[in-house]
Amino acid sequence: MDSISLKDKVAVITGASRGLGRAMALEFGRLGAFTIVNYVREEKGAQQTLDMLREAGGDGAIAMADVRKADEVNAMFSHIFKTYKKVDVLVNNAGITRDEYFMMMRPQSWLELMDVHLNGVFYCSKAVIRNMCAARKGVILNIGSGSALVAMPGQVNYSASKAGLLGFSRSLAREVAGKGVRVIHVAPGFFESDMTVTLDPEFIKETFEVTPLGRWGSGVEMAAVATFLASDDCSFFTGHSIVVDGGRGAVEAEYGS
Ligand code: NAP
Repeated sequence: MDSISLKDKVAVITGASRGLGRAMALEFGRLGAFTIVNYVREEKGAQQTLDMLREAGGDGAIAMADVRKADEVNAMFSHIFKTYKKVDVLVNNAGITRDEYFMMMRPQSWLELMDVHLNGVFYCSKAVIRNMCAARKGVILNIGSGSALVAMPGQVNYSASKAGLLGFSRSLAREVAGKGVRVIHVAPGFFESDMTVTLDPEFIKETFEVTPLGRWGSGVEMAAVATFLASDDCSFFTGHSIVVDGGRGAVEAEYGS
Protein backbone atom coordinates (compact mmCIF):
# COMPACT_ATOMS: atom_id res chain seq x y z
CA MET A 1 0.00 0.00 0.00
CA ASP A 2 1.20 3.52 -0.80
CA SER A 3 1.94 5.54 2.31
CA ILE A 4 0.85 8.69 0.47
CA SER A 5 -2.71 9.02 -0.73
CA LEU A 6 -4.30 11.86 -2.69
CA LYS A 7 -7.64 10.10 -2.82
CA ASP A 8 -10.69 12.41 -3.07
CA LYS A 9 -8.52 15.41 -3.91
CA VAL A 10 -8.93 17.52 -7.04
CA ALA A 11 -5.57 18.67 -8.42
CA VAL A 12 -4.96 21.17 -11.23
CA ILE A 13 -1.53 21.11 -12.88
CA THR A 14 -0.73 23.89 -15.33
CA GLY A 15 1.43 22.93 -18.31
CA ALA A 16 0.87 19.19 -17.96
CA SER A 17 0.81 18.32 -21.68
CA ARG A 18 4.46 17.20 -21.47
CA GLY A 19 7.63 17.34 -19.37
CA LEU A 20 7.57 17.68 -15.61
CA GLY A 21 3.89 18.66 -15.63
CA ARG A 22 2.97 15.38 -17.31
CA ALA A 23 5.14 13.37 -14.90
CA MET A 24 3.50 15.08 -11.92
CA ALA A 25 0.01 14.59 -13.37
CA LEU A 26 0.61 10.85 -13.78
CA GLU A 27 1.75 10.49 -10.18
CA PHE A 28 -1.08 12.65 -8.78
CA GLY A 29 -3.49 10.44 -10.74
CA ARG A 30 -1.83 7.22 -9.62
CA LEU A 31 -2.15 8.29 -5.99
CA GLY A 32 -5.88 8.91 -6.40
CA ALA A 33 -6.31 12.62 -7.16
CA PHE A 34 -8.79 13.62 -9.85
CA THR A 35 -6.18 15.40 -11.95
CA ILE A 36 -6.86 18.27 -14.34
CA VAL A 37 -4.26 18.53 -17.08
CA ASN A 38 -3.91 22.13 -18.26
CA TYR A 39 -2.26 23.03 -21.57
CA VAL A 40 -2.14 25.99 -23.93
CA ARG A 41 -1.10 24.67 -27.37
CA GLU A 42 -0.58 20.90 -27.13
CA GLU A 43 -4.10 19.49 -26.83
CA LYS A 44 -2.83 16.17 -28.20
CA GLY A 45 -0.11 16.06 -25.54
CA ALA A 46 -2.63 16.88 -22.81
CA GLN A 47 -4.94 14.13 -24.04
CA GLN A 48 -1.99 11.70 -24.05
CA THR A 49 -1.24 12.62 -20.44
CA LEU A 50 -4.87 11.94 -19.54
CA ASP A 51 -4.91 8.63 -21.45
CA MET A 52 -1.73 7.49 -19.68
CA LEU A 53 -3.16 8.57 -16.34
CA ARG A 54 -6.36 6.59 -16.97
CA GLU A 55 -4.41 3.53 -18.16
CA ALA A 56 -2.65 3.59 -14.79
CA GLY A 57 -6.01 3.52 -13.03
CA GLY A 58 -6.44 7.23 -12.30
CA ASP A 59 -8.95 9.77 -13.56
CA GLY A 60 -9.02 13.40 -14.59
CA ALA A 61 -9.77 15.84 -17.38
CA ILE A 62 -7.96 18.21 -19.72
CA ALA A 63 -8.46 21.99 -19.65
CA MET A 64 -7.10 24.61 -22.03
CA ALA A 65 -6.07 28.04 -20.73
CA ASP A 66 -3.18 30.32 -21.50
CA VAL A 67 -2.03 31.22 -17.98
CA ARG A 68 -1.03 34.68 -19.26
CA LYS A 69 -4.67 35.49 -19.98
CA ALA A 70 -6.86 36.25 -16.99
CA ASP A 71 -10.10 35.66 -18.90
CA GLU A 72 -9.00 32.17 -20.05
CA VAL A 73 -7.75 31.25 -16.56
CA ASN A 74 -10.98 32.44 -14.94
CA ALA A 75 -13.11 30.55 -17.47
CA MET A 76 -11.11 27.35 -16.84
CA PHE A 77 -11.44 27.58 -13.06
CA SER A 78 -15.08 28.55 -13.15
CA HIS A 79 -15.75 25.40 -15.22
CA ILE A 80 -13.65 23.34 -12.76
CA PHE A 81 -15.48 24.67 -9.69
CA LYS A 82 -18.87 24.20 -11.38
CA THR A 83 -18.10 20.64 -12.44
CA TYR A 84 -15.82 19.26 -9.73
CA LYS A 85 -16.81 21.61 -6.87
CA LYS A 86 -13.33 22.25 -5.45
CA VAL A 87 -9.60 22.48 -6.03
CA ASP A 88 -7.44 20.90 -3.31
CA VAL A 89 -4.10 21.28 -5.06
CA LEU A 90 -2.89 23.80 -7.63
CA VAL A 91 0.50 23.14 -9.19
CA ASN A 92 1.71 26.27 -11.00
CA ASN A 93 4.08 24.46 -13.35
CA ALA A 94 3.63 26.11 -16.78
CA GLY A 95 6.95 27.55 -17.86
CA ILE A 96 9.05 28.76 -20.76
CA THR A 97 12.61 29.90 -21.44
CA ARG A 98 13.84 32.69 -23.67
CA ASP A 99 17.59 32.47 -22.96
CA GLU A 100 19.54 35.49 -24.23
CA TYR A 101 22.54 37.33 -22.85
CA PHE A 102 21.37 40.52 -21.18
CA MET A 103 23.15 42.84 -23.64
CA MET A 104 21.13 41.26 -26.45
CA MET A 105 17.94 40.58 -24.52
CA ARG A 106 14.83 41.84 -26.27
CA PRO A 107 12.18 43.48 -24.07
CA GLN A 108 9.75 40.87 -25.41
CA SER A 109 11.88 38.04 -23.96
CA TRP A 110 11.80 39.75 -20.57
CA LEU A 111 8.07 40.42 -20.65
CA GLU A 112 7.09 36.92 -21.80
CA LEU A 113 8.90 35.34 -18.86
CA MET A 114 7.24 37.68 -16.36
CA ASP A 115 3.91 36.99 -18.01
CA VAL A 116 4.05 33.19 -17.74
CA HIS A 117 5.97 32.79 -14.46
CA LEU A 118 4.51 35.68 -12.45
CA ASN A 119 1.27 36.93 -14.02
CA GLY A 120 0.22 33.36 -14.81
CA VAL A 121 0.81 32.24 -11.23
CA PHE A 122 -1.02 35.35 -9.97
CA TYR A 123 -4.13 34.63 -12.08
CA CYS A 124 -4.26 30.91 -11.27
CA SER A 125 -3.65 31.42 -7.55
CA LYS A 126 -6.24 34.22 -7.36
CA ALA A 127 -8.75 31.89 -9.00
CA VAL A 128 -8.44 29.25 -6.23
CA ILE A 129 -7.38 31.06 -3.08
CA ARG A 130 -10.77 32.20 -1.76
CA ASN A 131 -12.24 28.77 -2.25
CA MET A 132 -9.27 27.10 -0.52
CA CYS A 133 -9.43 29.53 2.41
CA ALA A 134 -13.18 29.00 2.78
CA ALA A 135 -12.58 25.22 2.78
CA ARG A 136 -9.74 25.79 5.28
CA LYS A 137 -7.49 23.49 3.27
CA GLY A 138 -5.52 23.52 0.06
CA VAL A 139 -2.01 23.47 -1.31
CA ILE A 140 -0.37 25.65 -3.96
CA LEU A 141 2.92 24.32 -5.34
CA ASN A 142 4.86 26.86 -7.35
CA ILE A 143 7.44 25.28 -9.63
CA GLY A 144 10.35 27.69 -9.59
CA SER A 145 13.91 26.85 -10.54
CA GLY A 146 17.40 26.41 -9.18
CA SER A 147 18.20 29.30 -11.52
CA ALA A 148 16.55 31.56 -8.92
CA LEU A 149 19.23 30.51 -6.45
CA VAL A 150 22.45 30.14 -8.46
CA ALA A 151 23.87 32.53 -11.07
CA MET A 152 22.90 31.50 -14.60
CA PRO A 153 24.36 33.57 -17.46
CA GLY A 154 21.89 34.01 -20.32
CA GLN A 155 18.95 33.65 -17.97
CA VAL A 156 18.51 37.06 -16.33
CA ASN A 157 14.84 36.99 -17.35
CA TYR A 158 14.27 33.38 -16.24
CA SER A 159 16.18 33.78 -12.94
CA ALA A 160 14.42 37.04 -12.08
CA SER A 161 10.97 35.61 -12.76
CA LYS A 162 11.64 32.44 -10.75
CA ALA A 163 13.19 34.45 -7.88
CA GLY A 164 10.05 36.60 -7.93
CA LEU A 165 8.03 33.43 -7.62
CA LEU A 166 9.97 32.52 -4.49
CA GLY A 167 9.00 35.85 -2.88
CA PHE A 168 5.41 35.40 -4.03
CA SER A 169 5.27 31.94 -2.46
CA ARG A 170 6.71 32.97 0.90
CA SER A 171 4.47 36.00 1.32
CA LEU A 172 1.31 34.22 0.23
CA ALA A 173 2.16 31.27 2.49
CA ARG A 174 2.27 33.59 5.47
CA GLU A 175 -0.99 35.31 4.52
CA VAL A 176 -3.02 32.12 4.20
CA ALA A 177 -1.40 29.73 6.70
CA GLY A 178 -3.98 30.66 9.33
CA LYS A 179 -6.70 29.53 6.92
CA GLY A 180 -5.17 26.07 6.56
CA VAL A 181 -3.70 26.69 3.10
CA ARG A 182 -0.07 25.80 2.34
CA VAL A 183 2.07 27.47 -0.34
CA ILE A 184 5.40 25.94 -1.35
CA HIS A 185 8.10 26.88 -3.84
CA VAL A 186 9.84 23.95 -5.51
CA ALA A 187 13.16 24.63 -7.22
CA PRO A 188 14.14 21.90 -9.69
CA GLY A 189 17.71 21.64 -10.96
CA PHE A 190 18.27 20.00 -14.36
CA PHE A 191 15.60 17.63 -15.59
CA GLU A 192 15.38 16.10 -19.04
CA SER A 193 12.48 17.70 -20.95
CA ASP A 194 11.70 19.73 -24.08
CA MET A 195 12.94 22.76 -22.14
CA THR A 196 16.46 21.39 -21.65
CA VAL A 197 16.88 19.09 -24.65
CA THR A 198 18.23 21.94 -26.79
CA LEU A 199 20.96 22.94 -24.33
CA ASP A 200 24.57 22.84 -25.53
CA PRO A 201 25.98 19.31 -24.82
CA GLU A 202 29.17 20.88 -23.42
CA PHE A 203 27.09 22.90 -20.93
CA ILE A 204 25.18 19.77 -19.94
CA LYS A 205 28.48 17.89 -19.40
CA GLU A 206 29.82 20.72 -17.22
CA THR A 207 26.57 20.81 -15.26
CA PHE A 208 26.75 17.10 -14.52
CA GLU A 209 30.35 17.56 -13.32
CA VAL A 210 29.21 20.05 -10.65
CA THR A 211 26.13 18.02 -9.71
CA PRO A 212 27.01 15.56 -6.94
CA LEU A 213 24.55 12.98 -8.31
CA GLY A 214 26.11 13.58 -11.74
CA ARG A 215 23.02 13.34 -13.97
CA TRP A 216 19.63 14.78 -14.93
CA GLY A 217 16.69 14.37 -12.61
CA SER A 218 13.76 12.38 -13.97
CA GLY A 219 10.13 13.43 -14.06
CA VAL A 220 9.32 10.55 -11.73
CA GLU A 221 11.75 11.93 -9.13
CA MET A 222 10.17 15.38 -9.38
CA ALA A 223 6.68 13.90 -9.14
CA ALA A 224 7.60 11.97 -5.99
CA VAL A 225 8.56 15.22 -4.24
CA ALA A 226 5.51 17.13 -5.53
CA THR A 227 2.99 14.51 -4.46
CA PHE A 228 4.52 14.29 -0.99
CA LEU A 229 4.43 18.10 -0.59
CA ALA A 230 0.79 18.15 -1.73
CA SER A 231 -0.28 15.32 0.56
CA ASP A 232 -1.69 15.56 4.06
CA ASP A 233 1.44 13.70 5.25
CA CYS A 234 3.30 16.97 4.66
CA SER A 235 0.87 19.10 6.68
CA PHE A 236 3.51 21.06 8.71
CA PHE A 237 5.44 22.26 5.65
CA THR A 238 4.71 25.67 4.12
CA GLY A 239 6.43 28.90 3.09
CA HIS A 240 9.71 27.24 2.17
CA SER A 241 11.51 26.44 -1.02
CA ILE A 242 12.57 22.87 -1.56
CA VAL A 243 15.47 22.34 -3.96
CA VAL A 244 15.41 19.15 -6.07
CA ASP A 245 18.69 19.33 -7.95
CA GLY A 246 20.90 16.31 -7.29
CA GLY A 247 22.89 18.43 -4.82
CA ARG A 248 24.09 21.02 -7.34
CA GLY A 249 22.97 24.05 -5.33
CA ALA A 250 24.81 22.74 -2.27
CA VAL A 251 28.07 22.78 -4.24
CA GLU A 252 27.43 26.30 -5.51
CA ALA A 253 26.64 27.40 -1.95
CA GLU A 254 30.03 26.10 -0.79
CA TYR A 255 31.78 28.35 -3.29
CA GLY A 256 29.47 31.31 -2.74
CA SER A 257 29.60 31.55 1.03
P1 NAP B 1 8.39 21.84 -20.97
O1 NAP B 1 8.66 20.40 -21.20
O2 NAP B 1 8.89 22.84 -21.95
O3 NAP B 1 6.80 22.02 -20.78
C1 NAP B 1 6.26 23.29 -20.56
C2 NAP B 1 4.79 23.18 -20.26
O4 NAP B 1 4.30 24.50 -19.95
C3 NAP B 1 3.98 22.67 -21.45
O5 NAP B 1 2.97 21.80 -20.97
C4 NAP B 1 3.33 23.94 -22.00
O6 NAP B 1 2.06 23.74 -22.61
C5 NAP B 1 3.15 24.75 -20.73
N1 NAP B 1 3.00 26.18 -20.98
C6 NAP B 1 3.90 27.06 -21.50
N2 NAP B 1 3.37 28.28 -21.59
C7 NAP B 1 2.10 28.19 -21.11
C8 NAP B 1 1.04 29.11 -20.96
N3 NAP B 1 1.18 30.40 -21.31
N4 NAP B 1 -0.14 28.67 -20.44
C9 NAP B 1 -0.29 27.35 -20.08
N5 NAP B 1 0.68 26.43 -20.22
C10 NAP B 1 1.86 26.85 -20.74
O7 NAP B 1 8.97 22.32 -19.56
P2 NAP B 1 9.43 21.48 -18.27
O8 NAP B 1 10.89 21.24 -18.38
O9 NAP B 1 8.52 20.35 -18.03
O10 NAP B 1 9.26 22.60 -17.12
C11 NAP B 1 8.15 22.63 -16.25
C12 NAP B 1 8.39 23.66 -15.18
O11 NAP B 1 9.57 23.31 -14.44
C13 NAP B 1 8.61 25.06 -15.72
O12 NAP B 1 8.02 26.01 -14.86
C14 NAP B 1 10.12 25.22 -15.70
O13 NAP B 1 10.52 26.55 -15.60
C15 NAP B 1 10.46 24.41 -14.45
N6 NAP B 1 11.84 23.92 -14.45
C16 NAP B 1 12.26 22.98 -15.34
C17 NAP B 1 13.58 22.54 -15.29
C18 NAP B 1 14.11 21.48 -16.22
O14 NAP B 1 15.31 21.18 -16.12
N7 NAP B 1 13.33 20.91 -17.10
C19 NAP B 1 14.46 23.08 -14.34
C20 NAP B 1 14.01 24.05 -13.47
C21 NAP B 1 12.69 24.46 -13.52
P3 NAP B 1 1.90 23.39 -24.19
O15 NAP B 1 2.52 22.02 -24.36
O16 NAP B 1 0.43 23.38 -24.42
O17 NAP B 1 2.65 24.42 -24.95
